[in-house]
Amino acid sequence: MSAQNESVVTRVDVHVFRAPIATAVVNAFGAMRNRPMALVSIEDGDGITGWGEVWCNFPVVGAEHRARLIASVFAPLLVGRTICDPACEYARLARIVANQVLQTGEPGPFGACLAAIDQALHDLAARRAALPLWRYLGGAHERAGPSQARIPPPGGQRSGEAASVGGLSEPVPVYASGLGPDGAETIAQHARQRGFRAFKLKVGFGREHDLANVRALRESLPVRSTVMVDANQAWPIDEAQTMARLLAEFDLTWLEEPIAADRPPAEWQALASASPVPLAAGENLCSASRLDAAIASGALRVLQPDIGKWGGFSQILPIARRAVQAGMRFCPHWLGGGIGLIASMHLRVAAGGDGYVEWDANPNPLREAFALPGVVDGSVVLSDAPGLGLVPDLRALEAYRVSL
Ligand SMILES: [Mg+2]
Repeated sequence: MSAQNESVVTRVDVHVFRAPIATAVVNAFGAMRNRPMALVSIEDGDGITGWGEVWCNFPVVGAEHRARLIASVFAPLLVGRTICDPACEYARLARIVANQVLQTGEPGPFGACLAAIDQALHDLAARRAALPLWRYLGGAHERAGPSQARIPPPGGQRSGEAASVGGLSEPVPVYASGLGPDGAETIAQHARQRGFRAFKLKVGFGREHDLANVRALRESLPVRSTVMVDANQAWPIDEAQTMARLLAEFDLTWLEEPIAADRPPAEWQALASASPVPLAAGENLCSASRLDAAIASGALRVLQPDIGKWGGFSQILPIARRAVQAGMRFCPHWLGGGIGLIASMHLRVAAGGDGYVEWDANPNPLREAFALPGVVDGSVVLSDAPGLGLVPDLRALEAYRVSL
């Protein structure tokens, strides 16, 4: 058995699933006609397993490609390694693959693989410490309780085994995402019945269509409901300025990615100063320097990095804390399966602040197969189960498995 804070990696496995859906999930730049999920599991010599999820919604072959990258590039670098600190391991792996990233021109897929590996190593480390990941990362808890770590039992904490150490997390607000452009009110009503109080609508489908959709959603909800909109980088700056003014009457909590994420900071600042609606972005800012530049620009009120697209816990958490310190809301982006969603919740608790976690409200068997926390009056509370607090039920998911 290894020391409590050390893992010797013995296995790295990848798992790809695709679930058919009845209705495509549409946004301003494309559509998902099925739902993919790519997971990585990392097991250590004590039989403890950590899990991570790779962002892989686009392109349609993204899940298989990223899983193969992990299996062929990263797994051989991990098996046999003694891991003391997931953040150090992230830095080591990033250094080793740096030239391959340049040579292949694939910073996105490599970055997403590293992000998922980082999640899995953190899940593993927190399980070893018999702590829920949010507390392992220093997050706040709701109720007083015996919060000291338990010593893992002989052989280590088993994957998925709950250890009661007392104290739940602070409540974390969540919002129902992925609504529209068609049928948003119906999905929102279902989400309301499940406890959601905040709702995000997709826009970017034409001015009149967008405004009619926002009005219809607003009017279908109780007055005090929180509503946001997401343009998925659809507009040039002049249209974004016009839309921001036209959207002002709907009391929106934020306007997300009205222009392309890589537009110059000066353009974002000009839009922010003209927009009556707070601006949000981050899911397509995939480096520390770009996220820090976004914080420094003052243009965004809401920062939304994606824990499976770039950075994992080790890179995003320090940035998230800087964002909260700067007075921004940290609202992690997620629109995939259950592991990335629960990881986003742990990340948000650890970061602090009052930000929301995104929760896709569209049907997705690859999210619904997980025992996620219930939503009560718009918020979730994370348990004190070790690590992420859940593991995939591989038998339930088997029908969706893609062989690589
Ligand atoms: Mg978005």
